[in-house]
Amino acid sequence: MRAQEGASKRRAPAMTLRLGVDIGGTKIAVAVLDSSGGERLRRRVFYERREYDAAFTLLLETIQQAENDAGERCAIGVGMPGLIDPDTGLVENAYNTPFNKRSLKRDLESGLSREIRFANDANCFALSEAVDGAARGARVVFGAILGTGVGGGIVVGGRIVEGRHGIAGEWGHTPLPWMTQDEYPGPRCNCGRLGCIEQFLSGPAKNQERDVMGEDKAMARYEDRLARAFSTVINILDPDVIVVGGGLSKHERLYVNVPPLLKRYVYWRNATTPIVRAAHGDASGVRGAAMLWPL
Ligand SMILES: [Zn+2]
Repeated sequence: MRAQEGASKRRAPAMTLRLGVDIGGTKIAVAVLDSSGGERLRRRVFYERREYDAAFTLLLETIQQAENDAGERCAIGVGMPGLIDPDTGLVENAYNTPFNKRSLKRDLESGLSREIRFANDANCFALSEAVDGAARGARVVFGAILGTGVGGGIVVGGRIVEGRHGIAGEWGHTPLPWMTQDEYPGPRCNCGRLGCIEQFLSGPAKNQERDVMGEDKAMARYEDRLARAFSTVINILDPDVIVVGGGLSKHERLYVNVPPLLKRYVYWRNATTPIVRAAHGDASGVRGAAMLWPL
């Protein structure tokens, strides 16, 4: 093993720079991390056209430009919604990006002449926060994204738990627990089912309630639903900490009001799971993608 490592080092110098890419619905973000986790550069570009070829060219050129500016060949990781179907190699469940149902991994690896690691964006978020963010030092981490959609990722011992189908942590597409009569059966979700957590806890869902009942009432309702949704995660995974990212993570009252509500719903009378705000904010996606290549 040692001899092999030596040989591969001679062929290609060890890459100390890691380039992370966060592919979103409207934009692409890239960051280059040095070996201490410091950011050498970070930037983002918006899709001008959403056809695959145009979006792919933008992605490729953005990566190449960032690597040129960093001045070294980089190890590259990509975080994006959905997953790469292990059977077909195609991107799946990434409906809001220009890359859904396309062979993005293969095309990018051929365009950049190297292996590129892919992971779900919520998994990258959880990894970044577990490695050097708000969940640093915790063994079992659940990362929850509360934004345009609701996503989640699980990191144990500093490694992403992908799951058999690559969907581990996708709590947004399970039903809201203990629905009240007026919540049942819930709105139709993008995934085709009724009453998914995403339909209650996304930013648009919260804003809709705010417009009907006002900010304070809407937030109180939101907090109770969030406590219910987290309690299912806690009953199954019992994480050491839950880290919250996405647009709604800016509401500081969540971190005060939701933890006491857990006692009502979790199958343990004194649930104390800390719920904390992400430390890296929007940058967690690109940082986690770069960290798909451990140092
Ligand atoms: Zn759904």
